[in-house]
Amino acid sequence: MLKVVCEDITKLKVDAIVNAANKSLLGGGGVDGAIHKAAGALLLQACKQLNGCQTGQAKITHGYNLPAKYIIHTVGPIYRFHDQAEDEQLLRYCYRNSLDLAKKYNLKTIAFSSISTGVYGYPKKEAAQIAVSTCKKWLADNGNLLEITFCVFDKENLNIYRQLLEK
Ligand code: ADP
Repeated sequence: MLKVVCEDITKLKVDAIVNAANKSLLGGGGVDGAIHKAAGALLLQACKQLNGCQTGQAKITHGYNLPAKYIIHTVGPIYRFHDQAEDEQLLRYCYRNSLDLAKKYNLKTIAFSSISTGVYGYPKKEAAQIAVSTCKKWLADNGNLLEITFCVFDKENLNIYRQLLEK
């Protein structure tokens, strides 16, 4: 199942939330900063043990003070840092690798932040098309194993996802 909510992702009570992290995994601004603030200092300690993360890859930690049990940290592409096909593929990898990790941990519910659409500059509509199509395909390939929520933070993105999910 796929759905969209417009909320602060740190408030969601799901098995895992997906953080739009940077390669260092040591925190930053945007949703990453909000997650570190809400999860508490133990998250930074855990992230320090992970040795960073490459673009398109995903790593997992506990959720600490969050209502979510786990945090999956994925690093989205910086828009136009690579050529378009590569940007697109890296963003797909973020979603696919996060879902594979959730499956490996036997999770049932996962909420994605809108990866790369803040400071990393990915156009919201293009990013949403990639997010929805990648998750749909993954669910079809994996027997609808997970309940997937897209957690957006503004009206524009909410409308984009609503339109895509109606199809
Ligand atoms: P990136 O560096 O991958 O672009 P950002 O954190 O700058 O990551 O932005 C990713 C998306 O997260 C943006 O669409 C932004 O509106 C959204 N966002 C920011 N704070 C929150 C939050 N607390 N909960 C959910 N989404 C958020």
